[in-house]
Amino acid sequence: MRIAVMTSGGDSAGMNAALRAVVRAAGAQGFSVVGVERGFMGLVEQAYVPLTSASVSGIIHRGGTILRTFRCPDFLERGVRDEAAKGFAHAGIEALIVIGGDGSLRGAHAIQQEWGIPVIGVPGSIDNDIPGSDYSIGYDTALNIAVDAVDKVRDTATSHGRIFVIEVMGRNCGMLALATAICCGAEEVLIPERPFDMDEICRRIEKGYDRGKHHAIIIVAEGASRASHVSYEIRGRLDREVRMVVLGHIQRGGNPTAFDRILASRLGTTAVERLAAGEHGVMVGLVADTVATSPLMKEDAQPRMPLAEFLHIQSWLS
Ligand code: ADP
Repeated sequence: MRIAVMTSGGDSAGMNAALRAVVRAAGAQGFSVVGVERGFMGLVEQAYVPLTSASVSGIIHRGGTILRTFRCPDFLERGVRDEAAKGFAHAGIEALIVIGGDGSLRGAHAIQQEWGIPVIGVPGSIDNDIPGSDYSIGYDTALNIAVDAVDKVRDTATSHGRIFVIEVMGRNCGMLALATAICCGAEEVLIPERPFDMDEICRRIEKGYDRGKHHAIIIVAEGASRASHVSYEIRGRLDREVRMVVLGHIQRGGNPTAFDRILASRLGTTAVERLAAGEHGVMVGLVADTVATSPLMKEDAQPRMPLAEFLHIQSWLS
């Protein structure tokens, strides 16, 4: 069998490790592999490159993706997908593995439905918001980077008695922010899933200083608010020094953690195994530390995130 593999949507650390796992497992099955460059754009432009075991040497520890990635709004159009399908068939490719976030997996589902080829999805996202897997590739690395950064800021916050507002990624999902807050003992965390009241937050911060705290760390998921706005609101209410840090894209890059390398290796090899076994239209994921498959399209499915539990313990521990 001749299979294609691609990375799509926002990059996340460990995508390279997943690519490597797919290519090497495919080789073990006797499949040949082509890489699709720049996500769905590569399907539109027929940017196919042959991948061998040697092509994926020396990448397990590297962030980003050697196939590069892209957000390709054109692919939302049926006509564009139909054209891409012709090029795909012309290249003699019989199956596709898509590594990416929820948007990319929706694209993978559209291909599965429309192109009549087997498609398997692999979850890669720093947000960890993909139903069907307890973890997505890159989340653990992003979390560790955010924790390391907040620990450093905290040293300054404590030394100067300042309030620090630190913005982390998470447009629709606060899991990364919440986990960072727990790991760093942050005083407050603002996430898109929960409304917040600045008066109440400022009252709690002031009480913390009254109890003898030497700083306040407030973690803000970008989808809940902006660090600049939260800082402005606090300055208007409290007579204290407030500083802000936006972690931004440093959260995405860097060497994947051991956890993400293992996750990527497990999911990449399983994707090929399942394809070889004739399974398709599924995403491979990790459920209770066991590799499992779930339908690519999961209408109304919620990610298996311990959001409520994390919110509960954060309120006790801060
Ligand atoms: P992520 O995969 O990280 O969630 P996006 O949401 O930007 O990133 O999705 C990546 C790409 O997936 C989009 O740019 C688009 O090309 C494709 N895509 C998303 N949703 C669909 C859809 N419903 N049908 C076809 N392609 C889609």
